[in-house]
Amino acid sequence: MPPPNDELVRKRTSADFVFGKVIGEGSFSTVYLAKDVHTSREFAIKVLEKRHIIREKKTEYVTREKKVLQILGSSCKYFVHLYYTFQDTDRLYFVLTYAKNGELLQQINKDGAFSLECTKYYAAELVLALEYLKLKGIVHRDLKPENVLFDENWHILIIDFGSAKILGEDKSSDEESQKRRKYSFVGTAQYVSPEILNDDESTCASDLWALGCIIYQMLTGQMPFRGPSEYLIFQKILKLDYEFPQGFDKVAKDLIEKFLVIAPSSRLGATDQVPYKSIREHEFFREINWDDLGPPPNFSAKCENSSDIVIIPDDLEPGLDEEKASRLHFRMLQPQTPPRKKSEPNRKITDLSQEEIEQRLEQQKSNNSVYHELVEGNLILKQGIVEKRKGIFPRRRMLLLTLGPHLYYVDPVTMTLKGEIPWSDDLKPEAKNFKKFFVHTPNRIYYLEDPDGYALEWCKAIDEVKAYYYPVQQL
Ligand code: ATP
Repeated sequence: MPPPNDELVRKRTSADFVFGKVIGEGSFSTVYLAKDVHTSREFAIKVLEKRHIIREKKTEYVTREKKVLQILGSSCKYFVHLYYTFQDTDRLYFVLTYAKNGELLQQINKDGAFSLECTKYYAAELVLALEYLKLKGIVHRDLKPENVLFDENWHILIIDFGSAKILGEDKSSDEESQKRRKYSFVGTAQYVSPEILNDDESTCASDLWALGCIIYQMLTGQMPFRGPSEYLIFQKILKLDYEFPQGFDKVAKDLIEKFLVIAPSSRLGATDQVPYKSIREHEFFREINWDDLGPPPNFSAKCENSSDIVIIPDDLEPGLDEEKASRLHFRMLQPQTPPRKKSEPNRKITDLSQEEIEQRLEQQKSNNSVYHELVEGNLILKQGIVEKRKGIFPRRRMLLLTLGPHLYYVDPVTMTLKGEIPWSDDLKPEAKNFKKFFVHTPNRIYYLEDPDGYALEWCKAIDEVKAYYYPVQQL
């Protein structure tokens, strides 16, 4: 529902909202549930720290997101609506429709997989949303189940237009941004179309590829292209190397196969004169009434609607400043800040004699043999579970800092080595708060979160190892 006209005219500030809870965090933003103090209406407010945006050179993404949301307006109910934008000295604010019922991804994970009926319904909503995008000349380019949220009535709401492309916009600026995107890919690898990987021009057909992946995932609970590393996933995408499980619905298979086609123009719907007539006419959607999809079907297990439990307390003051932001992070999200571990303040993690190293290696070999193998026999100086964030999709990893130096990360469930943060003189840890820390490397920033709140200890340990292997040259 768009705001009344007089409301549109008046410029908003953060003092018009009570900020109640952090409901999401992206690589570049924190999203708060907030209440308009005048109307009590709830919104999701995406708050971006200007310093962080500038430092990470993401200004273009932010501008793009705002522009696309403005183009989309409020005519299609399947997209979050941008009600207001404003800024203060430190932050930018996007006031958005609040998607009360979480992400499609959470719902798929909760259900294991969707029924055919449920998949058809949400696939149909996605088709209608993509028709609207096509009409507006926009390619989302990062469509995935984390970016499809549910509103209070369980209809989809698509978010995150930072990577979107506006067709017909100045080509040179888009080529520039594509080039940058190639070297700073932050999306989730599994849904990326071959043309984006090949750095060819992306069109609305790139979103049709993602639609094929999402329908596959709704029906199986898994992404079609899986692999232990981004590189191997990309290889699979480029070779169209995926399989359907036994007994997979034949009509759904046919539809997915028509989306997962390497040549964008050969994908179902890509060349429709009336978008997306050929998709609507596919046998998969036979029972769908495109003029009225009707109410959403019931999931076997609807996600706990956490926001129902979270009421914005009445005693909160409107506005957002440094103090309030950290209070919302630390007190409301994690009421108990973990006790700080006592450590020997002056002893460095690298203060080890050769004898100690050998002794500890022996212990490691016998007590921690699986990890000992995975870290190639290097002495583990520090290890702990962290959430490793790629895009908005966190993965649980055992982070292992070893002599060498190495920073390995292992999937603690499958006990497989997932990768290594490459060391160099330029590696730099940065603590954002007690939980979050970044490891900057020349080619990539690793976004990490220690759920126990020892981010500062991680950074200190990494700094000490760096100082040991890469001592600062005194001039
Ligand atoms: P990234 O670049 O890492 O993908 P981002 O900084 O662009 O993320 P978003 O993806 O827009 O941020 O939002 C981060 C999270 O906040 C989302 O995953 C989602 O869970 C939550 N979120 C975003 N918008 C809304 C909304 N309108 N209603 C409810 N939750 C939202």
